[in-house]
Amino acid sequence: MTAEAHFRACNLCEAMCGLRIEAEGGRVTSIRGDDEDPLSRGYLCPKAFALKDLHEDPDRLRHPVRRTKSGWERLAWDDALDFASRGLVDVQKAHGNDAVGVYLGNPNVHNTGSMLFAPTFIRTLRTKNRFSATSVDQLPHMLAAYWMFGHQFLLPVPDVDRTQHFLIFGANPVASNGSLMTAPGMRHRIDAIRARGGRVVVVDPRRTETAERADEHVFVRPGTDALLLLAMLHVVLQGELALGRLGELTDGLDALRDAVREATPARVAGPTGVPAETITRLANDFASAPSAVCYGRVGTSTQLFGTLCQWLVNALNIVTGNLDREGGAMFPKPALDPVALKQVGKGSYGRWKSRVRGLPEFGGELPVAVLAEEILTEGEGRLRGMVTLAGNPVLSTPNGAQVDRALASLDFMVSIDPYINETTRHANLILPPPSPLERPHYDVVFHLLAVHETARFAPALFDPGPDARHDWQILLGLARRIDTLKLGRDVRRTLKYRALERLGPERVLDVGLRLGRFGARLRPPRVGLTLAKLRAAVHGVDLGPLTPSLPERLFRRGKTIDLAPPLLVADLARLWSTFEGDGTASTRDRLVLIGRRHLRDNNSWMHNVPQLMRGTPRCTLFVHPEDAARLGLAGGAEAIVRSRVGEVRVPVTVTDEIMRGVVSLPHGYGHRRPGVKLAVATEHPGVSVNDLTDDQMLDTLSGNAAFSGVPVDVCAAPRDAE
Ligand code: SF4
Repeated sequence: MTAEAHFRACNLCEAMCGLRIEAEGGRVTSIRGDDEDPLSRGYLCPKAFALKDLHEDPDRLRHPVRRTKSGWERLAWDDALDFASRGLVDVQKAHGNDAVGVYLGNPNVHNTGSMLFAPTFIRTLRTKNRFSATSVDQLPHMLAAYWMFGHQFLLPVPDVDRTQHFLIFGANPVASNGSLMTAPGMRHRIDAIRARGGRVVVVDPRRTETAERADEHVFVRPGTDALLLLAMLHVVLQGELALGRLGELTDGLDALRDAVREATPARVAGPTGVPAETITRLANDFASAPSAVCYGRVGTSTQLFGTLCQWLVNALNIVTGNLDREGGAMFPKPALDPVALKQVGKGSYGRWKSRVRGLPEFGGELPVAVLAEEILTEGEGRLRGMVTLAGNPVLSTPNGAQVDRALASLDFMVSIDPYINETTRHANLILPPPSPLERPHYDVVFHLLAVHETARFAPALFDPGPDARHDWQILLGLARRIDTLKLGRDVRRTLKYRALERLGPERVLDVGLRLGRFGARLRPPRVGLTLAKLRAAVHGVDLGPLTPSLPERLFRRGKTIDLAPPLLVADLARLWSTFEGDGTASTRDRLVLIGRRHLRDNNSWMHNVPQLMRGTPRCTLFVHPEDAARLGLAGGAEAIVRSRVGEVRVPVTVTDEIMRGVVSLPHGYGHRRPGVKLAVATEHPGVSVNDLTDDQMLDTLSGNAAFSGVPVDVCAAPRDAE
């Protein structure tokens, strides 16, 4: 038997790299970059090989399992789906619909079937307790987009391949290959900016892999980016503006001027740690570049002022005339366009609030930072049941130890997940979908964030066999049973369920592509895209560079952009009082913790891949040499790190790549918990940064968790405990 080449986009992260996979006898024999992929042009990262390891992983569940007193017991699919739906409906009948919550982890957005069918399942639960990884990640971006542009998914993307000035706040795209910016091979794209005479500037508390390749790196105190951005806007708005056609599309320029009037570079230099003259120069360099784009990501999103940061990043791009233009921040318009679909909500804010802390809903979800308290706090409306979909909130949400305790106390829990991990070990039942190579793939989300318009579909490489259920089949199977139990009649033969089962993800995709702007149905450019055409184009299709799209793509009434949304302007008082009021001393005099991304890591779920765990251990605490000397810490020795919520013991790396006064841990580790069945991960357990992060530290407006800038105390671990 000879190896066959199979082409598909990698769906392990946002970058969508094209892969050429060879398989023989049901096993992968090689994975390489697809040189003909119009977006990734042959690039791939080491994580791509995880597709083989995930597929072959002996720890991956191949059939449903139920937790019993004597261990996990195998169930047939129909029995498992019956058991799961009955358990969830029993909780809801006894305590109300909101007594069951649902949490969607990050891998859902990389899964075509989940993206298209999870909404149907979630609607059947009729619960307000909906959570996802959004509120430990990009929620501030979405809230700022909702208020400024009128749609939560109108997220401007840096046109990195044409810009002459790339200003990066709190992001490490060389390690991540872009986030909310699908850009495989970022190190090449960054090198290309410099090669064409452009400039790359990184503002970050750590000299990251991206900063190492940039023209300039500026250290900034964690959590103060909003002050720095305000001061840059202050400088820019004092000069001549070149808004161009954006002048007619924007409201609120005077209010923005008022908001930044007092934010002089001299005033913010102290708290940010950035000299006033550097701030002025950064602003002037940006404003005078032939084209420029400012991009803020995780460090500016997962912090106390995340939504302010995203507002100010957008505002900086707008007032310098760099929104919706070549080389600036642009809005992709993909072949299958979630923004154009009526079924995808524009967004909503504050329609309901969380029971205990009163945090507002956004887009139909509550911040996951309230999940544990909603389970642990007695009273009417307490959460007693949960469904997790490809999520591991014990390791990925703040105060993970508390989440761990909360999940252990539930009456009933179902997980749709291929592993028994730190979260799913609490489930009564685990329903495992097939591996990524056993399902077809079209990226429903990340074409919307890509730096170049492409489309790509791949069928499954391997047949998962008759004793497997795809994610969408699991979700639909649960939905149908829950509806049947709630309505008291069998809904199997209703039009809705017959249609959904017959359609499946591929027909839904086909309809979406035909109706899209490159589809067979609409006006030029008449590419005539259908799923069949995509299936035949094994390397994907090149649909061209990003093109301007305003004002058509705006969703606010009057098709304008709000430069100064009132709730954002009002939130500035909280910012100033934190750094100039009582909050100053409590944060400036303490060490603060930030996260860290590595090319071989992807959240919590790829630590069971042997290839990715080889080499020097990555879960160490980065400490600046002067802090290490002051605290008596030595490289390789262990430190105790304490926060308000917990403590961890972790090896130290002394390095001047981290700013003085700041320490850093990667996230996604902490695998040594009883009952976890991840053989490789438990050999490399590390510690969970979220045993230190604080569920009470939030961006107040969005409710997004603040992982960046957590106050901690660090000391050398006592030798007698080693
Ligand atoms: S960067 Fe790596 S993990 Fe991400 S899509 Fe590309 S190959 Fe896959």
